[in-house]
Amino acid sequence: MRLHFDCTACGRCCNSLRLPLSIREAIQWLEGGGIVQVMCDATPDLPVNEADTANVFRRERSFAANSLSLPIRVRVTLVAAFTGPCPNLLPNKLCGAYDRRPATCRIYPAELRPDADVDPSARLCPPEAWLSNKPLLVRDDCTVADPEIVDAITLARREGISDMSRKLHLTDLLGINVAALANEGFVIWHIDQRLLVSALLKVSAVSLPSDCCSSFWSVASPSVPVREMIGAAGGTACAVKDLEGAEYLSLQRSIDEPAI
Ligand code: SF4
Ligand code: SF4
Repeated sequence: MRLHFDCTACGRCCNSLRLPLSIREAIQWLEGGGIVQVMCDATPDLPVNEADTANVFRRERSFAANSLSLPIRVRVTLVAAFTGPCPNLLPNKLCGAYDRRPATCRIYPAELRPDADVDPSARLCPPEAWLSNKPLLVRDDCTVADPEIVDAITLARREGISDMSRKLHLTDLLGINVAALANEGFVIWHIDQRLLVSALLKVSAVSLPSDCCSSFWSVASPSVPVREMIGAAGGTACAVKDLEGAEYLSLQRSIDEPAI
């Protein structure tokens, strides 16, 4: 669907976020005094149909690991976390870090995922931002027309892939080895921020081998049947109340065990 868009600088999209960051951006965010969390989720390592762009996209952003004898793919997402206004949001609702804002901010309200179309109803932008006299954002063939957003999407996709082996080594360095079951929730690790920036700088500085399979992971789930299913498949699972140094963010409405 053809869409026109121009940001009204209403500032609505700059509040109470977990804003995905590349490793490079996470270092910048931490050095600017912001808070970065490490979110982990995992899926069984199953063959992916190359025509399934959503699953290919997800697989490219995960690394291979083991949960006992169960091969899994772990996705590690670094996020800038804040409640209320972004620390960079100025009183006039403009971005105080405009030239160094993360790619996620540059891409909004477009989509990073190749399988997702831009949906104004799912965006916080007011109706006047989408008027037909505004610059073209999305062409009739659903491709993004704004060259700056296209550049940001290209960079974010490239960094998302190149960060993966570094994230495997990051989790080894930080002792992170529990992930939530994908689509059920996330395990959010609260790492000492000085330790995190030091580990991020370390994994950024060296050339690392690509995918390897050295880590042993546990899958956290609030659901007893899910934990039993993971165990029966050869993996190891833990209850979310047993997490240490991390919390569980549930994406489910109905769960067997309350998240902490
Ligand atoms: S970095 Fe700037 S654009 Fe991004 S959320 Fe913060 S204020 Fe908004
Ligand atoms: S919600 Fe939309 S219109 Fe408002 S500041 Fe964010 S991108 Fe701009």
